[in-house]
Amino acid sequence: MVGASRVGRRELVGGAVAATVGTLAGCRRVRPGDVESSTAMAAVRHLAGVVGPRPGTTPAYFRAAEWVDAQLDRLGWQVERQRFAVPGGFSWVAPVDAGDSVNVIAHRGDLRPGVPWLAIGAHLDTVPRSPGAEDNASGIGVLLTVARAVTWRRTRLPVVLIAFGAEEPRGPTDDDHHYGSRAYVDRLTAGQRRSLRGMVSMDRVGVGDAVVIGSPEDGDPLRDQLVAAAERVGAPYVVESGQRSSDHWSFVRDGLPGVRLGSTPYAAYHDDSDVVSVVNRDQLERTARVVVSWIR
Ligand SMILES: [Zn+2]
Repeated sequence: MVGASRVGRRELVGGAVAATVGTLAGCRRVRPGDVESSTAMAAVRHLAGVVGPRPGTTPAYFRAAEWVDAQLDRLGWQVERQRFAVPGGFSWVAPVDAGDSVNVIAHRGDLRPGVPWLAIGAHLDTVPRSPGAEDNASGIGVLLTVARAVTWRRTRLPVVLIAFGAEEPRGPTDDDHHYGSRAYVDRLTAGQRRSLRGMVSMDRVGVGDAVVIGSPEDGDPLRDQLVAAAERVGAPYVVESGQRSSDHWSFVRDGLPGVRLGSTPYAAYHDDSDVVSVVNRDQLERTARVVVSWIR
């Protein structure tokens, strides 16, 4: 039986890779019901419970990036790494070293110049003392849940998934955080910028009973899209303005459409008590269903 399941998996991966080179058109459209929150919980358990604290330039961070890369690859996504330099500083009162960090970027081979696309991101790093179950293994967990849900499924536009490095602050100003997403935005071509229809950052999405949908300004049309998506799946939600504290801000401050999901306050924030038990599986599932409803 072990042998049989191994062969099955190999066939599935091969098929998923084939699907990325042109047969997706024959697949049905993804549905919110395709979401399986077990994927998200497994990610939270691995990143917070096994890897632990993972500031963006540390060996632990690179182990986490390797693991996310392998998960996406196994699901048939084409994965690339994007390295960038990060300065040293103080991250939530603990010193952190300068060094390189990396974004893990995945697509399904369906990106074409001039064709509109969507980006979904979550930061993978933590502050030095925190295992980061909620901040932000929860967001990576939902990212992988969405990745799995759309394997063999069509979406309304090509989707890019990004696990961002070095989101957490290394100093007090607006230029002292979000290093991975700023490197990603900096390296977009003019054509990619023109055709990006929206970026959603999932950051702390496993606490609370309602999905927080945040944007820097009121009346954000992308935020309205996410609100409509929440209503379609019957997910309770809260709308938040003045939200600049995650990777979506790197996009918005550069003139691109970006929204954040998540940010419900919790006692273990940036603390060594941000462990697996903090995260609520139902909230992960709710968030994943909203995202799938947005991209379907
Ligand atoms: Zn965070």
